[in-house]
Amino acid sequence: MATKASTKGKTSVKKESKESKETIDLLRKQLIKRREDLAASVKNHALELPDTGMDGSPGDTADQAASDYTTEMFGALLERQAGTLEEVDRALRKIENGDFGICEHCEKAIPSKRLKSLPWARFCLECQEKSDRRGAARKAQAEPAEWETVEE
Ligand SMILES: [Zn+2]
Repeated sequence: MATKASTKGKTSVKKESKESKETIDLLRKQLIKRREDLAASVKNHALELPDTGMDGSPGDTADQAASDYTTEMFGALLERQAGTLEEVDRALRKIENGDFGICEHCEKAIPSKRLKSLPWARFCLECQEKSDRRGAARKAQAEPAEWETVEE
């Protein structure tokens, strides 16, 4: 028999969102899924992380080097995944607050095309590019640059 999904709990959206409810629902599901994947992955990798503690008999140096390399690789991967996890959490909070899909810098709506490929995007493409350029420039010149001060 077909059990109809109950339609209890009227969802009243107070704040008008730029994206349709369906789109946001879809993206929220993607974000939750991604959060689960990332959390599981981070946990697994943390467990897999080789024990670097000195436990009596160190292997030969090649082993040690390989182990260091693995640790480093896992470390970088973990860092990246943990970073993405934060972004995903942040996006989910924004959905709750009703300000999802708004660029955090210029406060314009982020195009849904961008949101669909990057649901946790914080900035519109324009601001992201500005930020990336600033970031790259900062790296190259190694001088602090506030990207808010960029001339319009
Ligand atoms: Zn923007």
